[in-house]
Amino acid sequence: MAAVIALKHVISKTMLRHELKSRLDEDICVLVRTDSARWNYLCDCGLATELSVRECLETLAVFISHTHIDHFIDFDRLIRHQVGTGRLVTVCGPKDIQQHVSSKLRGYNWNLVQQGEETNASYLIHEWVAEQTLVRWKLEAPEWLPVFLDETTSSDCIFQGESFDVRATLLDHGTPCMAYLFEEHPRSTFLIEQSPYPPGPWIKTLQAAWKHDLLEEQIAVHDQIIKAQDLFYLLEKQPSQKLGYVMDHSATAENHAKIEALFANADTVYMECYYPESEYELAVRNNHSTAKRSGEICGRIGIKHPIPVHFSRRYHSDENLMHEILSEFQLAWKTAFEKFLLEKQ
Ligand SMILES: [Zn+2]
Ligand SMILES: [Zn+2]
Repeated sequence: MAAVIALKHVISKTMLRHELKSRLDEDICVLVRTDSARWNYLCDCGLATELSVRECLETLAVFISHTHIDHFIDFDRLIRHQVGTGRLVTVCGPKDIQQHVSSKLRGYNWNLVQQGEETNASYLIHEWVAEQTLVRWKLEAPEWLPVFLDETTSSDCIFQGESFDVRATLLDHGTPCMAYLFEEHPRSTFLIEQSPYPPGPWIKTLQAAWKHDLLEEQIAVHDQIIKAQDLFYLLEKQPSQKLGYVMDHSATAENHAKIEALFANADTVYMECYYPESEYELAVRNNHSTAKRSGEICGRIGIKHPIPVHFSRRYHSDENLMHEILSEFQLAWKTAFEKFLLEKQ
């Protein structure tokens, strides 16, 4: 049990920070943020009492895996806190997500809200209708009916943040279930000891040119103008952090191939662990994975820090069984990960 409780407040030291906001006996909700901005990003909105009012207010985008009740019930709390902020909030999700969000909003009476008021929040919906197919909708008060904006294909990027992108794939859970990968934009550090020029604001300009591959950009280095590519030797590329969120899915070869394609070598992945292996038949019937199979796939594809989450409610009050599920996951991951490292050598 201690291992589970310890998971709750693990906050990564690198730029993409992440924190589980649901307690062990609650549904699932993970908060992601960056060091450089005040905004939050939420993965699913299951019942999560540790999600504060402030965190709801500062949520800029929500990534819904699917709309089973344990992943979507607390979307109402977001609505409650965001409704008067005048903010545009993006909601990503599988086919028909715009209808589900619209239905939530239309469940309330909005007679005191006028169309076009500055304080009205609105929702931009990113509906992932099929792999690499994004349809965008907008929902505005007081009607909250989905208005079609556009459709794009041929990219697995579902959301572009200031310092990261989010890519997605669809897993089979008897219904489409989105899995999300947050990937930092390329980052560089300035090698100050190798620089013949004194530091200054030009370093930021140079790093921006490097990030966007602008070789010919003219950089003002104090009283000289130097072409960006002639200064790139002063920058060292940093590895981009990859953070994954993989929820409900059947432990099939097809789902595992999709997980491998998107999450191979990821740093950290939140992974569903709904049943112990002894309940495999139940897992198959309900289109879920087991702790063992989830741990195995994480290790096999080189995920360095998998975080087991989302256990069936029937086990929450049974400490021994919870311990068994976590040990099963940990052992399966460790065995497969060691094999992965050996094969890599
Ligand atoms: Zn589900
Ligand atoms: Zn679930």
